[in-house]
Amino acid sequence: MTDRPNVVELRGVSKRYPGGVTALREVDLAVGRGELLGIVGRSGSGKSTLLNIIGTLDRPTEGTVVIDGHDIATLSDRRLSALRARRIGFVFQQFHLAPGIPVLDNVADGLLYAGVPMRGRRAAAEAALVRVGLGHRLTHRPHELSGGERQRVAIARAVVGDPALLLADEPTGNLDSASGAAVLGVLDELHRAGTTVLVITHDLETAARLPRQVHVHDGRVTAARPEGFPA
Ligand code: ADP
Ligand code: MG
Repeated sequence: MTDRPNVVELRGVSKRYPGGVTALREVDLAVGRGELLGIVGRSGSGKSTLLNIIGTLDRPTEGTVVIDGHDIATLSDRRLSALRARRIGFVFQQFHLAPGIPVLDNVADGLLYAGVPMRGRRAAAEAALVRVGLGHRLTHRPHELSGGERQRVAIARAVVGDPALLLADEPTGNLDSASGAAVLGVLDELHRAGTTVLVITHDLETAARLPRQVHVHDGRVTAARPEGFPA
């Protein structure tokens, strides 16, 4: 279904958590193939909930979610997991690398569920690490790298299977500004090479570097800056 123009289509999506918190309210959002989109909002506004639903980690309470051409309501949990493993890459604030394991294997493990044999996994991992500028760090362990380098390893792992969609939740949140800029540079290069990238951030400076932004405010998504949100 790679010929569909939109990788993400949400229509009337709401999410209520057990206990009564409504984290998303009637969200409509379309993300075109190849876009680099910033999702901006204050802490607690619903950004991670939105990312979890786009990433098929969670299902909405109401509304329609179409990811890479699949209406997720029609998929079993097993088929949803397969879609997630093959078509979506994730990057989180906390890197989530396996400690004590060489960088090359950390990235190769990103292909474990894609049915690629070991040698192919390692070759693809090396290529992904070269793409993020870490071709000289293949045998290092995560604790031997800087925070910015660790996040670039996490990006390499997320894109090693060539996903349709790369989702990054506060990818620069634990980094100093120079390392954060390098990470954004890598995301921008992936976007230029054709990957669809969504970057979640509470930081307006980070968002301002991205070609398109939507704002999340109290569970609602707007293209413009909501009232009272600092410029
Ligand atoms: P953000 O990522 O913008 O900080 P979240 O999507 O994490 O916002 O949270 C939005 C709202 O939903 C918050 O009020 C939060 O407390 C609530 N929330 C998030 N996850 C859960 C959960 N698993 N159960 C109940 N409430 C949740
Ligand atoms: Mg969050």
